[in-house]
Amino acid sequence: MAETGRAAVYKEFGQPMEIKEYPVPEPEPGAILIKVSRTNICGSDLHQWRGDLNLTALGAPLPAILGHEMTGTVAKLGEGVLTDSAGQPLAVGDRVVHRYFRPCGHCRACLRGEDAACPIAPLAVVSPCEEPPHFHGTYADYHYLPPNYTVFKVPDNVTDDMVAPANCALSQVIYGLERVGFSFGETIAIQGAGGLGIYATAVAKDMGAEKVIVIDGIEERLELAKAFGADELIDIREIKTPTERWLKVRELTGGWGADVVAELVGFPHVIPEGIDMLGYGGRYLEIGNVSFGMTYEAEPCKLVMDNKSIVGVMLYSAAALKKALDFLSRAKDKYPFDKILARSYPLEEINEAFENQDKGLVTRSTIVP
Ligand SMILES: [Zn+2]
Ligand SMILES: [Zn+2]
Repeated sequence: MAETGRAAVYKEFGQPMEIKEYPVPEPEPGAILIKVSRTNICGSDLHQWRGDLNLTALGAPLPAILGHEMTGTVAKLGEGVLTDSAGQPLAVGDRVVHRYFRPCGHCRACLRGEDAACPIAPLAVVSPCEEPPHFHGTYADYHYLPPNYTVFKVPDNVTDDMVAPANCALSQVIYGLERVGFSFGETIAIQGAGGLGIYATAVAKDMGAEKVIVIDGIEERLELAKAFGADELIDIREIKTPTERWLKVRELTGGWGADVVAELVGFPHVIPEGIDMLGYGGRYLEIGNVSFGMTYEAEPCKLVMDNKSIVGVMLYSAAALKKALDFLSRAKDKYPFDKILARSYPLEEINEAFENQDKGLVTRSTIVP
C-alpha cells in the first residue's frame, strides 16, 4: 500500500476541520516535498476559517488544506533541484522555509519588480486538496512545493520554533517597513503587539529606529514588546481615548508625531487615530486589515493638509524572507524569539487550537504534526 500522510481538511467556513489521509506524492521535476515540523495559526488563517476572508470568491475552491506559516525538512527532492534559492546545496533532511505564494512573473506588477503585488499570488493560501499532489496547505504531515517557489535553508543556529513564523509574520513586517521607507533615526508607533507587532518592534530597532512606541491593551503582549526592544508602551486600558493616545505619541516624539505608524491590529477602527499619531509628512503602514467589507470613517483633509500617506502592503519579496533568516541568525541572543509562539498542539487538536486563538485565549499557536 502507498504511504499516506495526514491533513486537516477545511470544508466549510467556521466548521471544524477533518483529519484525512492522502497518498504521499512523488515530487515532479523541480518540486520539493517537505515534511512539516511546525505550522502556525496566523491571523489570516483565522480570518479564512471564519469566512471573513473569503478567497473562494476569488476562485480558490473548497475543500482545501489551510495553513501557510511553517518550517520543515526536505523529505523528497524532485529531479533537478540541487540548491535552494540562494544557491546553497540542498539535500534530503535539510531544514527549510519557503515563500508560500508564487507570483506569476509576467504581470505588470511582477515586471516592475514588485512581485508581492501580483494578483494571483494570494490564491496560494487556499488550494484544493482532493486532486494529487493533495498537500498544498501546511496543516498536514507534508507540504508539496511545486517548481519555481522560493525556498531557503534554515541557518544552523536558528531553532524550528524561532523560524516557523519567518515565512509570514516576520518577512511581512520586514517588507512592509521597507515599502513604507522606514529608515535610520526615525520614530515609529506600532498599533498592536501580536506576533506582527512584536517582530516590527525588533526589526525597527535593528533598522536604527530613534524611538519605538508600542500600543496594546494586554499585559503579556506589552511585556513581550518591551523584551523585543520597545522604548515606550501605551496601554489602552490606561490611556483610554484615541485623542489622548495620539497626544501621548506626539508628546513622546518631541511634540512632532511619529514618522511612521504601523497598523498591525487588524481592525479598521484604529486607523483614524493612527493617522493622527503621525507627524507632518508621516507614512502610515497598513498591513493588519485583511477582511473584505470592513470599513472606517476617513477625513481625507488630514492626509492632504499634513502631507501624510497610507501604504498598503500584502505579501513580501523573496529577498525579505532571506533577510528574515539572516536577522534571526544574527539577533537570536538579543531577543526572546522562542516566546512568540505561546502554545503548541498536535495536528489532531487543530480545531481546539483554532477555537482558543479565535477566542483570544492564546495569542499565537503552532501545530506540531
Ligand atoms: Zn504577476
Ligand atoms: Zn500569515
